[in-house]
Amino acid sequence: METPTATLLLKNGRDKPVLNRHPWIFSGAIERLKGDARPGDLVTVADHRGAPLATAYYNPKSQIQARILSWDPSEPVDHDFWLRRLRRAIEGRAMIGLATSDERRATSGEPASPASSLPSFPAPQAETTAYRLVNAESDLLPGLVVDRYGDYLVMQCLTLGIDRRKGMLTNRLVELLQPAGILERSDADVRGKEGLRPVVEMRHGQAPPPELAVYENGRQFLVDVWKGHKTGFYLDQRDNRAALGDPALLAGREVLNVFAYTGAFGVYAAAAGAGRVVQVDSSTPALEVAERNMALNGFARPNDEYIAGDAFEVLRYYREEGQQFDAVVLDPPKFAYSQGQVERACRGYKDLNWLALRLLRPGGLLATFSCSGLVGADLFQKVVFGAAVDAGRDVQILRHLGQSADHPVLLSFPESAYLKGLLCRVW
Ligand code: SAH
Repeated sequence: METPTATLLLKNGRDKPVLNRHPWIFSGAIERLKGDARPGDLVTVADHRGAPLATAYYNPKSQIQARILSWDPSEPVDHDFWLRRLRRAIEGRAMIGLATSDERRATSGEPASPASSLPSFPAPQAETTAYRLVNAESDLLPGLVVDRYGDYLVMQCLTLGIDRRKGMLTNRLVELLQPAGILERSDADVRGKEGLRPVVEMRHGQAPPPELAVYENGRQFLVDVWKGHKTGFYLDQRDNRAALGDPALLAGREVLNVFAYTGAFGVYAAAAGAGRVVQVDSSTPALEVAERNMALNGFARPNDEYIAGDAFEVLRYYREEGQQFDAVVLDPPKFAYSQGQVERACRGYKDLNWLALRLLRPGGLLATFSCSGLVGADLFQKVVFGAAVDAGRDVQILRHLGQSADHPVLLSFPESAYLKGLLCRVW
């Protein structure tokens, strides 16, 4: 068991966010550290009078000097604490229909117990075997991401506090889930802000192969958990792919999937009966996997196209050529990394949406996304509105889209809502 070695005293009047259960404590809110704490140690967070408010882990090297683990300062941070937190996160995925051991119990005759609905390893013949099990702050485990890919786990340690405890956390994950292997993919840029270097190495068990086949809503995808983007796949788009992959929307239609990565939206579109799918990405290796993913799902079709290039240029080229589509998906990478980049990011989103709108046949569909957390849903909608006005098109919003349910948003931490999208009908 770990006990806090020091108290982080907040400035007078700066305890409101803590009382509101926001997990971050910025350097500017801190009066001083009373006692000794090394980077990564536990500290008690207290108001300016010294009344304890929470337990956090500490990193003086970061702008976010402490991240709260518990708003009950008397809750012990011991073996059971971490197990409870992990279990709570992992069991939450069963509530949203992601693979659990119920199937294993059903076949083994074991009674299903509502108290435990942990996923089973090895992966069942389930509809979905790739999803997020632990979503950091939103699962009250700040800095820790754990994604499941079939029989393997991929973990990201984004903060020093988590990095220091990763051996222990690995053991807890093994206790709970017995995966075939756990790969650490801690190569996200944010680690730099915590004074950490990138790390990619095995933490437990067998190494996953460079190409892993997983299921998502019954479709198969090849994932490179070692080198692929994020932990290998854009799991956060699963629900949106399902929303768009509807025959009522796409049967017989011509679909342009821009920022395709490994073609996930394209596979759903083809499965929904799209007559032709054109996929665009700047990465040739990603598009090669996209083509193989299409084939894996039975869509090796001569009419489909895979175009390596800059999305803005490709969209402009299609306009010049007079090519049109019935549906366009726009899923660009993050444009805004800081408040100072928001304006420029919005100009980028506007251009992109304007270019896409002009390619749509009347009655066509636009599925447009932004994963820039700093561009809120309202602002994004305004940007798309601006693009529609400039393109002279009438646009109806059919659905507001967001990140999949395995990437929950903590109500007291609205920063965790980063992905937003609009499914639109365009005239
Ligand atoms: N829609 C994908 C995820 C897209 S991620 C999915 O569901 O899996 C963003 C993608 O945009 C990445 O694959 C990246 O290679 C690509 N990209 C980045 N900048 C680009 C540009 N200027 N033109 C085309 N593609 C770009």
